[in-house]
Amino acid sequence: MSDHPTAIVGGTALIGRQLEPVEGAVILIQEDRIAAAGPASDVTIPRVATTVDASNHTLFPGFIDAHVHIGFYDPALVVHAGVTTVRDLGWPPEQIWPLVRASASPRFKGPTIVAAGPMLTVEGGYPTRAGWAPRGTGWVIGSVEEARRAVEELGDAGASVIKVALDRAVGPTLDSRTLGAIVDAAHHRGLKVTGHTYGLDELHKALDAGVDELAHMLMSPDAIPEGTVAAMVAGSMVVVPTLSIFSGRCRQIAIDNLVRLRGAGGRVIYGTDLGNQGPSPGIDKREVEALAKAGMSAHEIIASATVCSAEWLGLTRAGALEAGLDADIVAVGGDLDAHGALARVDMVWRRGRRAR
Ligand SMILES: [Zn+2]
Repeated sequence: MSDHPTAIVGGTALIGRQLEPVEGAVILIQEDRIAAAGPASDVTIPRVATTVDASNHTLFPGFIDAHVHIGFYDPALVVHAGVTTVRDLGWPPEQIWPLVRASASPRFKGPTIVAAGPMLTVEGGYPTRAGWAPRGTGWVIGSVEEARRAVEELGDAGASVIKVALDRAVGPTLDSRTLGAIVDAAHHRGLKVTGHTYGLDELHKALDAGVDELAHMLMSPDAIPEGTVAAMVAGSMVVVPTLSIFSGRCRQIAIDNLVRLRGAGGRVIYGTDLGNQGPSPGIDKREVEALAKAGMSAHEIIASATVCSAEWLGLTRAGALEAGLDADIVAVGGDLDAHGALARVDMVWRRGRRAR
C-alpha cells in the first residue's frame, strides 16, 4: 500500500452490486479501499495517481471461497490466483485463530480469512479419524449442555459460522436433539450453521434442525428427491457445491442435484474445499467448469463468489467494486466469452496492494 492512489483504467469492469459491465472503466484505489469505480467520465483521477492499464481485461471483485482449509497452502498462492477472501471450514483453534487475526491486516500476504474453527461432531465421528485432519479439527460433543458451551466458546473466539459433521459413511453423527441445540445456540448468537452432510437421512435431519447451509453438495451419491429439494428452498438452505472434490459418477450426481436445486430457486455460494483432493489454490478452473455444466453463466458464477457470498457470509467490506469497500480486485485477460476465462487471472489487488 502506498500513500499514492492507484487508478486501474481501460478495462471492462463489473461495477457495483449488480456487477454491471462498464467498458473503459476506472477503479481508483486509495490505501486499502476503493475510492471510486465507474465509467471514465464519472471518475476523476488525481494527478499523483499511479495508472495501471487494464485494457483488454475484465475486472471483477476478488473471489470469496466459502470452503477452504487454508492451513494446507501458502496463503499467498491463494491470493495470487484471484481469491481475496476465504472461509476456513475446519482447523484446530490454536492454529486458525492467529491466522484469522493476522489476515485482518492489509499487509498480510494472503486472503482475508474468516473461519469456523473446529467442526462439532461426536466421539468417533468425522473428522476425528480422517487422515487429512490435524488433531483438534473435530470437537467432540457429548451432550446438549456441551453443545451450547461449544457454540459460546467458538463465538467468543471469533467464529464466523458453526460447522457440524453429519457423515454416516465414516462414523456416528450428532443426534437430532444435540444438533438442534447447536443450531439454536448458534442462531441465538447470530451465527449460521453449515453441515458436512453424507446421506439423505442426515440431510433430512439437518433440514429438521434448521441447519442453514450445506458445506458441500450432498456428499453421498444420491439424487435428492424433489420434496427434499423443495424443503431446502423453502427453508432457505444455501449450498456451497465444492464440485471439484467429486469425481466421475459422483460429480455427475452432484451436478444434477445442483441443477434441480437451482431450478427450484435454491441459492448457491461458491466454494471449493481447497485442501481436499481436486481444487487448486485461487479461482479453481475445475470448479468453474463444473458450475458451468450445472447451467451457471460466468456472471452467475462471479455473483456466487462475490456479491452473493459477501451478503451470505456477512462480509460488509468485500464482494463488490464499489466506493468504500476493500480494494479486492481481479483482472483476467480478455472477455468472459468462455468459462475458462474466469481462471485466466492476470492481475490481483488485495486490500489495495498489488498481489500479482
Ligand atoms: Zn472441507
